[in-house]
Amino acid sequence: MERTSASIALAVVLCASGSSTPVTAAPNARGDASHAALAKVAAAPASAKAAVDAKMRVHFINVGQGAATLFEFPNGAVLVDTGGEFNGMFDSNAELDAYLSTFFARRQDLGRRLTSLVLTHPHLDHTRGVANVLAHYPPKNVVTNGKTVGDGGALQVLAQNYAADHEGGPDPVGFVAVRVEQIPPTGLTNAVIDPVGGSPVDPKLTVLWGGIATNPGWGDTTFQNPNNHSVVLRVDFDQASVLITGDLEKKAIAAMLAKYAGSNLLDVDVYEPGHHGALNGTTQDLVTAMSPDYAVFEVGPKDRTGGATAFGYGHPRTDVIELLEAGVSKTRSPLTVWAATGTTNFELTPITKAIYATGWDGTVILEAGADGVFQVASPGGPAATLLDLNTATVAQLEALPRIGPTKAQAIVDYRTAHGAFATVDDLDHVPGIGPATVEAVRALVTIGPP
Ligand SMILES: [Zn+2]
Ligand SMILES: [Zn+2]
Repeated sequence: MERTSASIALAVVLCASGSSTPVTAAPNARGDASHAALAKVAAAPASAKAAVDAKMRVHFINVGQGAATLFEFPNGAVLVDTGGEFNGMFDSNAELDAYLSTFFARRQDLGRRLTSLVLTHPHLDHTRGVANVLAHYPPKNVVTNGKTVGDGGALQVLAQNYAADHEGGPDPVGFVAVRVEQIPPTGLTNAVIDPVGGSPVDPKLTVLWGGIATNPGWGDTTFQNPNNHSVVLRVDFDQASVLITGDLEKKAIAAMLAKYAGSNLLDVDVYEPGHHGALNGTTQDLVTAMSPDYAVFEVGPKDRTGGATAFGYGHPRTDVIELLEAGVSKTRSPLTVWAATGTTNFELTPITKAIYATGWDGTVILEAGADGVFQVASPGGPAATLLDLNTATVAQLEALPRIGPTKAQAIVDYRTAHGAFATVDDLDHVPGIGPATVEAVRALVTIGPP
């Protein structure tokens, strides 16, 4: 471990526990690629940046069951976690790569490089895409909790090794392994955690939680649970604020609340519900402290079944949605979604507040200017929110509640065979779709002009 701390530039602290993997120089194909990309960044004309408006966009990317959230700023892009779900029906790596590729094609000024990659904790549903992200969008900074135990541990090590491999040279990759014991009462920030500058708004990134070195008196199971060591990130864009708590569970949430009691550090506009909406990922006290305007779940759809799916875990829980229905201030067009009462147990649940989910909405994009007023850029405004059943693609249909890939394909096949839908109710002629599904999607779909 000492080699690690000695070899990583700008390391604030390294977690002493968990890692037995030495940080060694890896094959430098990535390094060459990243240095080529660096040259491009240096050569990017200043006018490209000026064309970007002074807004923060938060892309809650649909990586199925898992998490990947991209913060887009006028002067940079920070990716928090890399998803996601992988099975015969969904490959989060392909989805994330396609999304980032399109993103960087639009933001040519960023030279296909992330300003920072933040990994909340080494579970696969957060680290699955690390190798691909490092290879294709090499980050200039890496932030982790320093832990390596967990089913995504090898990929977190890969990110940490990448930072170590690029510690030197004219443009070194910064690295911080966040340890809770080192976080001051005002939260932790520095040039690695907050590498994004800007004018007139300089975004502020602050870490509020991370790996814990010494058990604060919890039971062994709680302390050894990687979720409780999640990096918690607060992002401020002037008056606009977002909180991501990773998979932090109740004991750690309570400890975090105690740490910041009396401050407004947890008071935010947008909350990405912890642990994908699991019962243990959100508490009433946390919701009260945040008083959020919006909540966006990073979660898979109910329709894909199996082990590591939203269906298998029972995410998100109706109890969490109840907390948010009471605690979120903004509203959205009412809709009914599938939420879980237990693992593999779901029931139709009405939503009236501004609660979004990648499992129902697909990728969700919120944007805000310096005034702190958020707008939902995707799914679109009231009119654009509705998906036209006669033009929708399989991918768009798949994101609807209760639909999923098989029924999405069946809808398109039916449309091809029988011509355009005349009414939304005609959906129940599609093989596999019954009245309950028609009701579940009714508020989200439309029949466009012929
Ligand atoms: Zn997770
Ligand atoms: Zn986890």
